Amino acid sequence: MFSATRAFTFKFPLPSFAFSAKTLMESPPRNPKANVFNSSSRSPSRKADARDTDDVSITLQEWQGWGTISLVPAKVLEVVEDLKLLERTNDAQMTFGGNGGKLQGEFKIQEDKKHRATYEALGDSEKKIQFFAARQIACRVLGSRDYLCQKCWLPLEEDCMCSRVKHSSLWPGIRFWLYMHPKDFLRQNNTGKLLWQVFGVQSATLCLFGIPEHEEIMRNAFKFSGKDNVWCLYANKNAVTKSVHDAFGQGFSDGIEHSSTVKNEDKTLNFVLIDGTWSNSAAMFRRLKEQTKSVWGEEDLPCISLATGASTMHKLRPQPSWDRTCTAAAAIGLLSELQCLPEFCSYGLDKQAEALEDALVVLLEALTTRRLRMGRSITRKVRHASNVC
Ligand SMILES: [Zn+2]
Repeated sequence: MFSATRAFTFKFPLPSFAFSAKTLMESPPRNPKANVFNSSSRSPSRKADARDTDDVSITLQEWQGWGTISLVPAKVLEVVEDLKLLERTNDAQMTFGGNGGKLQGEFKIQEDKKHRATYEALGDSEKKIQFFAARQIACRVLGSRDYLCQKCWLPLEEDCMCSRVKHSSLWPGIRFWLYMHPKDFLRQNNTGKLLWQVFGVQSATLCLFGIPEHEEIMRNAFKFSGKDNVWCLYANKNAVTKSVHDAFGQGFSDGIEHSSTVKNEDKTLNFVLIDGTWSNSAAMFRRLKEQTKSVWGEEDLPCISLATGASTMHKLRPQPSWDRTCTAAAAIGLLSELQCLPEFCSYGLDKQAEALEDALVVLLEALTTRRLRMGRSITRKVRHASNVC
Protein backbone atom coordinates (compact mmCIF):
# COMPACT_ATOMS: atom_id res chain seq x y z
CA MET A 1 0.00 0.00 0.00
CA PHE A 2 2.71 2.43 0.89
CA SER A 3 4.86 1.95 -2.15
CA ALA A 4 5.85 5.58 -1.92
CA THR A 5 7.72 4.97 1.28
CA ARG A 6 10.60 3.84 -0.92
CA ALA A 7 11.52 7.47 -1.05
CA PHE A 8 12.19 7.37 2.63
CA THR A 9 14.55 4.45 2.51
CA PHE A 10 17.87 5.98 1.76
CA LYS A 11 20.30 3.72 0.06
CA PHE A 12 23.08 3.82 2.57
CA PRO A 13 23.70 5.39 5.92
CA LEU A 14 24.51 8.99 5.36
CA PRO A 15 26.95 10.90 7.50
CA SER A 16 25.30 13.17 9.96
CA PHE A 17 27.38 16.21 9.16
CA ALA A 18 26.09 16.48 5.67
CA PHE A 19 23.74 19.36 6.12
CA SER A 20 25.69 21.50 8.50
CA ALA A 21 26.30 24.78 6.79
CA LYS A 22 29.09 25.67 9.16
CA THR A 23 31.04 22.49 8.84
CA LEU A 24 30.76 22.32 5.09
CA MET A 25 30.67 25.90 4.09
CA GLU A 26 33.14 27.55 6.33
CA SER A 27 35.77 29.54 4.56
CA PRO A 28 39.25 28.14 4.27
CA PRO A 29 41.83 29.35 6.75
CA ARG A 30 43.38 32.62 5.70
CA ASN A 31 46.79 31.45 6.81
CA PRO A 32 48.07 29.21 4.03
CA LYS A 33 50.24 27.28 6.49
CA ALA A 34 47.21 26.31 8.54
CA ASN A 35 46.64 23.13 6.60
CA VAL A 36 49.43 22.53 4.14
CA PHE A 37 48.44 18.93 3.55
CA ASN A 38 45.14 19.84 2.05
CA SER A 39 45.77 23.32 0.85
CA SER A 40 45.25 22.43 -2.79
CA SER A 41 41.65 21.49 -2.21
CA ARG A 42 40.69 24.68 -0.47
CA SER A 43 38.88 27.50 -2.09
CA PRO A 44 41.30 29.94 -3.65
CA SER A 45 40.97 33.69 -3.38
CA ARG A 46 39.35 35.03 -6.49
CA LYS A 47 39.60 38.37 -8.15
CA ALA A 48 36.34 39.54 -9.65
CA ASP A 49 37.98 41.48 -12.43
CA ALA A 50 40.28 38.85 -13.77
CA ARG A 51 38.62 39.38 -17.11
CA ASP A 52 38.16 42.64 -18.96
CA THR A 53 36.64 45.31 -16.79
CA ASP A 54 33.45 45.42 -18.84
CA ASP A 55 32.83 41.76 -18.07
CA VAL A 56 32.46 42.44 -14.38
CA SER A 57 28.83 43.25 -15.03
CA ILE A 58 26.37 40.36 -15.11
CA THR A 59 24.91 39.32 -18.44
CA LEU A 60 21.48 37.78 -18.88
CA GLN A 61 23.10 34.54 -19.97
CA GLU A 62 25.26 34.35 -16.88
CA TRP A 63 22.36 35.29 -14.59
CA GLN A 64 20.01 32.68 -16.00
CA GLY A 65 22.82 30.12 -16.03
CA TRP A 66 22.68 30.07 -12.22
CA GLY A 67 19.13 28.71 -12.37
CA THR A 68 16.97 31.83 -12.43
CA ILE A 69 14.33 32.71 -15.05
CA SER A 70 14.14 36.50 -14.62
CA LEU A 71 16.04 39.33 -16.24
CA VAL A 72 19.10 40.44 -14.30
CA PRO A 73 17.61 42.31 -11.32
CA ALA A 74 18.08 46.07 -11.58
CA LYS A 75 19.32 46.47 -8.02
CA VAL A 76 21.86 43.67 -8.41
CA LEU A 77 23.29 45.50 -11.43
CA GLU A 78 23.36 48.74 -9.40
CA VAL A 79 25.38 47.04 -6.67
CA VAL A 80 27.82 45.66 -9.25
CA GLU A 81 28.25 49.16 -10.70
CA ASP A 82 28.88 50.55 -7.20
CA LEU A 83 31.50 47.88 -6.54
CA LYS A 84 33.27 48.70 -9.80
CA LEU A 85 33.16 52.40 -8.98
CA LEU A 86 34.63 51.73 -5.55
CA GLU A 87 37.44 49.76 -7.16
CA ARG A 88 38.27 52.62 -9.49
CA THR A 89 38.07 55.43 -6.94
CA ASN A 90 39.96 53.65 -4.18
CA ASP A 91 42.39 51.73 -6.30
CA ALA A 92 41.67 48.59 -4.29
CA GLN A 93 40.94 45.36 -6.09
CA MET A 94 37.81 43.35 -5.46
CA THR A 95 38.84 39.95 -4.09
CA PHE A 96 36.64 37.12 -2.95
CA GLY A 97 37.44 34.07 -0.89
CA GLY A 98 35.89 31.09 0.76
CA ASN A 99 32.46 30.00 -0.25
CA GLY A 100 29.59 32.32 -0.82
CA GLY A 101 31.36 35.28 -2.36
CA LYS A 102 32.82 36.91 0.72
CA LEU A 103 34.82 40.02 -0.01
CA GLN A 104 38.31 40.09 1.38
CA GLY A 105 41.19 42.38 2.21
CA GLU A 106 41.38 46.14 1.95
CA PHE A 107 38.50 46.30 -0.50
CA LYS A 108 36.26 44.56 2.02
CA ILE A 109 37.03 47.17 4.67
CA GLN A 110 36.15 50.00 2.34
CA GLU A 111 33.09 48.30 0.93
CA ASP A 112 31.81 47.51 4.45
CA LYS A 113 31.85 51.19 5.36
CA LYS A 114 30.16 52.16 2.15
CA HIS A 115 27.40 49.59 2.17
CA ARG A 116 26.61 50.18 5.83
CA ALA A 117 26.20 53.91 5.12
CA THR A 118 23.99 53.18 2.12
CA TYR A 119 21.88 50.77 4.16
CA GLU A 120 21.44 53.23 7.05
CA ALA A 121 20.41 56.00 4.67
CA LEU A 122 17.57 53.95 3.20
CA GLY A 123 14.27 55.14 4.57
CA ASP A 124 11.94 52.18 4.78
CA SER A 125 12.39 48.56 5.62
CA GLU A 126 11.31 47.38 2.17
CA LYS A 127 14.17 49.28 0.56
CA LYS A 128 16.53 47.84 3.15
CA ILE A 129 15.43 44.28 2.41
CA GLN A 130 15.88 44.84 -1.31
CA PHE A 131 19.32 46.39 -0.88
CA PHE A 132 20.43 43.62 1.46
CA ALA A 133 19.26 40.96 -1.00
CA ALA A 134 20.79 42.65 -4.05
CA ARG A 135 24.18 43.12 -2.36
CA GLN A 136 24.31 39.53 -1.12
CA ILE A 137 23.43 38.21 -4.54
CA ALA A 138 25.78 40.49 -6.48
CA CYS A 139 28.73 39.47 -4.29
CA ARG A 140 27.84 35.79 -4.55
CA VAL A 141 27.62 35.90 -8.34
CA LEU A 142 30.87 37.85 -8.73
CA GLY A 143 32.70 35.70 -6.18
CA SER A 144 31.48 32.39 -7.61
CA ARG A 145 32.06 33.23 -11.27
CA ASP A 146 34.37 30.70 -12.95
CA TYR A 147 34.73 28.94 -9.61
CA LEU A 148 31.40 27.21 -9.02
CA CYS A 149 29.58 25.16 -11.63
CA GLN A 150 26.50 27.18 -12.54
CA LYS A 151 24.22 24.16 -12.46
CA CYS A 152 25.20 22.28 -9.30
CA TRP A 153 26.84 25.18 -7.42
CA LEU A 154 29.85 23.01 -6.52
CA PRO A 155 33.46 23.90 -7.39
CA LEU A 156 33.62 23.38 -11.13
CA GLU A 157 36.91 21.59 -11.50
CA GLU A 158 36.90 19.51 -8.35
CA ASP A 159 33.39 18.56 -7.36
CA CYS A 160 30.89 19.18 -10.20
CA MET A 161 28.25 16.46 -9.89
CA CYS A 162 26.21 17.30 -13.00
CA SER A 163 27.19 14.20 -14.98
CA ARG A 164 25.64 12.04 -12.25
CA VAL A 165 22.30 13.82 -11.99
CA LYS A 166 19.44 12.24 -13.94
CA HIS A 167 16.69 14.50 -15.16
CA SER A 168 13.05 13.70 -14.73
CA SER A 169 9.78 15.31 -15.78
CA LEU A 170 7.60 16.48 -12.95
CA TRP A 171 3.89 15.87 -13.39
CA PRO A 172 2.73 19.15 -15.00
CA GLY A 173 -0.07 19.54 -12.46
CA ILE A 174 2.55 20.57 -9.89
CA ARG A 175 4.95 23.47 -9.81
CA PHE A 176 7.46 24.06 -7.04
CA TRP A 177 8.68 27.49 -5.99
CA LEU A 178 11.99 27.68 -4.16
CA TYR A 179 11.59 30.81 -2.08
CA MET A 180 15.26 31.19 -1.25
CA HIS A 181 17.05 33.44 1.19
CA PRO A 182 19.87 35.44 -0.48
CA LYS A 183 22.38 33.88 1.90
CA ASP A 184 21.46 30.45 0.57
CA PHE A 185 21.93 31.44 -3.06
CA LEU A 186 24.94 29.59 -4.55
CA ARG A 187 25.53 27.71 -1.32
CA GLN A 188 27.14 24.38 -2.07
CA ASN A 189 25.05 22.37 0.37
CA ASN A 190 21.78 24.00 -0.53
CA THR A 191 19.39 21.26 -1.65
CA GLY A 192 16.70 23.45 -3.22
CA LYS A 193 18.84 23.74 -6.34
CA LEU A 194 18.38 19.99 -6.88
CA LEU A 195 14.73 20.54 -7.75
CA TRP A 196 15.40 22.53 -10.89
CA GLN A 197 18.45 20.44 -11.68
CA VAL A 198 16.20 17.40 -11.83
CA PHE A 199 12.85 18.84 -12.95
CA GLY A 200 13.89 21.98 -14.86
CA VAL A 201 13.32 25.66 -14.07
CA GLN A 202 9.72 25.73 -15.29
CA SER A 203 8.66 22.96 -12.91
CA ALA A 204 10.79 24.15 -10.00
CA THR A 205 11.35 27.87 -10.08
CA LEU A 206 13.78 29.86 -7.99
CA CYS A 207 12.35 32.96 -6.33
CA LEU A 208 14.92 34.96 -4.40
CA PHE A 209 13.64 36.65 -1.25
CA GLY A 210 13.79 40.44 -1.59
CA ILE A 211 14.35 40.47 -5.37
CA PRO A 212 11.29 42.26 -6.82
CA GLU A 213 11.73 40.78 -10.31
CA HIS A 214 11.52 37.26 -8.88
CA GLU A 215 8.72 37.94 -6.45
CA GLU A 216 6.66 39.51 -9.23
CA ILE A 217 6.99 36.39 -11.42
CA MET A 218 5.84 34.26 -8.51
CA ARG A 219 2.89 36.56 -7.69
CA ASN A 220 1.76 36.56 -11.31
CA ALA A 221 1.83 32.76 -11.42
CA PHE A 222 -0.20 32.63 -8.20
CA LYS A 223 -2.73 35.05 -9.64
CA PHE A 224 -3.04 32.86 -12.70
CA SER A 225 -3.48 29.64 -10.73
CA GLY A 226 -5.93 31.03 -8.21
CA LYS A 227 -5.93 31.11 -4.45
CA ASP A 228 -7.05 27.52 -3.99
CA ASN A 229 -3.97 26.25 -5.78
CA VAL A 230 -1.19 27.85 -3.79
CA TRP A 231 0.28 26.10 -0.77
CA CYS A 232 3.30 26.61 1.41
CA LEU A 233 5.22 23.70 2.87
CA TYR A 234 5.85 25.11 6.25
CA ALA A 235 5.48 23.38 9.56
CA ASN A 236 5.48 26.15 12.09
CA LYS A 237 3.40 26.05 15.21
CA ASN A 238 2.26 29.61 14.50
CA ALA A 239 0.90 28.72 11.08
CA VAL A 240 -2.33 26.87 10.46
CA THR A 241 -1.39 23.74 8.59
CA LYS A 242 -3.18 20.85 6.94
CA SER A 243 -1.89 17.39 6.25
CA VAL A 244 -1.48 16.28 2.65
CA HIS A 245 -4.37 13.89 3.20
CA ASP A 246 -6.70 16.58 4.53
CA ALA A 247 -5.79 19.06 1.82
CA PHE A 248 -5.75 16.79 -1.21
CA GLY A 249 -7.59 13.66 -0.16
CA GLN A 250 -11.16 12.69 -0.84
CA GLY A 251 -12.94 14.69 -3.46
CA PHE A 252 -9.95 16.68 -4.57
CA SER A 253 -9.68 15.00 -7.98
CA ASP A 254 -13.29 15.95 -8.76
CA GLY A 255 -12.15 19.47 -8.19
CA ILE A 256 -9.22 19.05 -10.58
CA GLU A 257 -11.41 17.63 -13.33
CA HIS A 258 -14.09 20.19 -12.83
CA SER A 259 -11.79 23.16 -12.67
CA SER A 260 -9.80 22.12 -15.73
CA THR A 261 -12.90 22.85 -17.77
CA VAL A 262 -12.93 26.45 -16.62
CA LYS A 263 -11.58 28.54 -19.43
CA ASN A 264 -8.35 30.51 -19.26
CA GLU A 265 -7.43 29.27 -15.82
CA ASP A 266 -4.36 27.32 -15.03
CA LYS A 267 -5.01 24.85 -12.26
CA THR A 268 -1.46 23.93 -11.50
CA LEU A 269 -0.86 23.25 -7.82
CA ASN A 270 1.83 25.65 -6.67
CA PHE A 271 3.92 24.53 -3.71
CA VAL A 272 6.22 27.05 -2.12
CA LEU A 273 9.23 25.68 -0.29
CA ILE A 274 10.88 28.07 2.13
CA ASP A 275 14.55 27.61 1.33
CA GLY A 276 16.53 29.22 4.09
CA THR A 277 17.92 28.43 7.49
CA TRP A 278 15.40 27.77 10.22
CA SER A 279 16.23 31.10 11.85
CA ASN A 280 15.41 33.01 8.64
CA SER A 281 12.33 31.05 7.78
CA ALA A 282 9.85 32.92 9.97
CA ALA A 283 10.70 36.24 8.28
CA MET A 284 10.55 34.55 4.90
CA PHE A 285 7.13 33.11 5.63
CA ARG A 286 5.89 36.54 6.74
CA ARG A 287 7.07 38.09 3.50
CA LEU A 288 5.54 35.26 1.49
CA LYS A 289 2.20 35.97 3.17
CA GLU A 290 2.58 39.65 2.24
CA GLN A 291 3.16 38.59 -1.36
CA THR A 292 0.00 36.49 -1.50
CA LYS A 293 -1.97 39.16 0.36
CA SER A 294 -1.04 41.65 -2.34
CA VAL A 295 -2.54 39.24 -4.89
CA TRP A 296 -5.75 38.27 -3.13
CA GLY A 297 -6.12 40.79 -0.36
CA GLU A 298 -6.23 38.06 2.23
CA GLU A 299 -3.74 37.34 4.94
CA ASP A 300 -4.37 33.62 4.92
CA LEU A 301 -1.88 31.37 3.12
CA PRO A 302 -2.67 27.66 3.42
CA CYS A 303 0.19 25.55 4.70
CA ILE A 304 0.94 21.88 4.34
CA SER A 305 2.82 19.86 6.90
CA LEU A 306 4.21 16.45 6.14
CA ALA A 307 3.17 13.50 8.24
CA THR A 308 6.25 11.49 7.39
CA GLY A 309 8.77 14.28 7.43
CA ALA A 310 10.37 13.68 10.78
CA SER A 311 10.93 9.96 10.38
CA THR A 312 12.58 10.52 7.01
CA MET A 313 15.04 12.94 8.40
CA HIS A 314 16.03 10.92 11.41
CA LYS A 315 17.78 8.60 9.02
CA LEU A 316 19.89 11.45 7.78
CA ARG A 317 20.43 13.68 10.68
CA PRO A 318 19.22 13.62 14.24
CA GLN A 319 18.57 17.34 14.65
CA PRO A 320 14.86 17.97 15.16
CA SER A 321 14.87 21.09 13.01
CA TRP A 322 16.23 19.31 9.99
CA ASP A 323 12.98 17.93 8.67
CA ARG A 324 11.51 21.37 8.47
CA THR A 325 14.40 22.92 6.65
CA CYS A 326 15.88 20.44 4.21
CA THR A 327 14.22 21.59 1.07
CA ALA A 328 14.74 18.64 -1.25
CA ALA A 329 13.62 16.22 1.45
CA ALA A 330 10.44 18.25 1.94
CA ALA A 331 9.70 17.99 -1.78
CA ILE A 332 10.41 14.24 -1.72
CA GLY A 333 8.08 13.88 1.26
CA LEU A 334 5.30 15.84 -0.42
CA LEU A 335 5.47 13.86 -3.67
CA SER A 336 5.54 10.59 -1.74
CA GLU A 337 2.53 11.51 0.40
CA LEU A 338 0.57 12.65 -2.64
CA GLN A 339 1.39 9.38 -4.37
CA CYS A 340 -0.40 7.55 -1.56
CA LEU A 341 -3.68 9.31 -2.35
CA PRO A 342 -5.90 7.63 -4.96
CA GLU A 343 -6.47 11.01 -6.61
CA PHE A 344 -2.76 11.33 -7.40
CA CYS A 345 -1.55 7.77 -7.71
CA SER A 346 -1.45 7.66 -11.52
CA TYR A 347 0.95 10.54 -12.15
CA GLY A 348 4.19 8.71 -11.37
CA LEU A 349 4.97 10.98 -8.42
CA ASP A 350 6.80 8.10 -6.70
CA LYS A 351 9.26 7.90 -9.59
CA GLN A 352 9.68 11.67 -9.53
CA ALA A 353 10.35 11.57 -5.78
CA GLU A 354 12.89 8.82 -6.42
CA ALA A 355 14.69 10.90 -9.07
CA LEU A 356 15.00 13.74 -6.58
CA GLU A 357 16.18 11.42 -3.86
CA ASP A 358 18.85 10.02 -6.19
CA ALA A 359 20.09 13.56 -6.83
CA LEU A 360 20.14 14.23 -3.09
CA VAL A 361 22.29 11.15 -2.57
CA VAL A 362 24.64 12.32 -5.33
CA LEU A 363 24.94 15.71 -3.64
CA LEU A 364 25.67 14.12 -0.27
CA GLU A 365 28.37 11.94 -1.85
CA ALA A 366 29.93 14.94 -3.58
CA LEU A 367 29.96 16.91 -0.33
CA THR A 368 31.40 13.94 1.55
CA THR A 369 34.15 13.44 -1.04
CA ARG A 370 34.96 17.13 -0.87
CA ARG A 371 35.16 17.06 2.86
CA LEU A 372 37.39 14.00 2.95
CA ARG A 373 39.69 15.56 0.38
CA MET A 374 39.94 18.63 2.54
CA GLY A 375 41.06 16.42 5.41
CA ARG A 376 38.00 17.05 7.51
CA SER A 377 36.35 14.46 9.63
CA ILE A 378 33.08 13.07 8.39
CA THR A 379 31.98 12.12 11.85
CA ARG A 380 32.48 15.46 13.49
CA LYS A 381 29.67 16.45 15.75
CA VAL A 382 27.38 19.08 14.32
CA ARG A 383 27.49 22.15 16.45
CA HIS A 384 25.25 24.47 14.52
CA ALA A 385 21.97 22.70 14.22
CA SER A 386 20.17 25.70 12.78
CA ASN A 387 22.42 25.94 9.74
CA VAL A 388 20.87 23.39 7.50
CA CYS A 389 20.13 23.27 3.83
ZN1 LIG B 1 27.96 20.88 -12.04
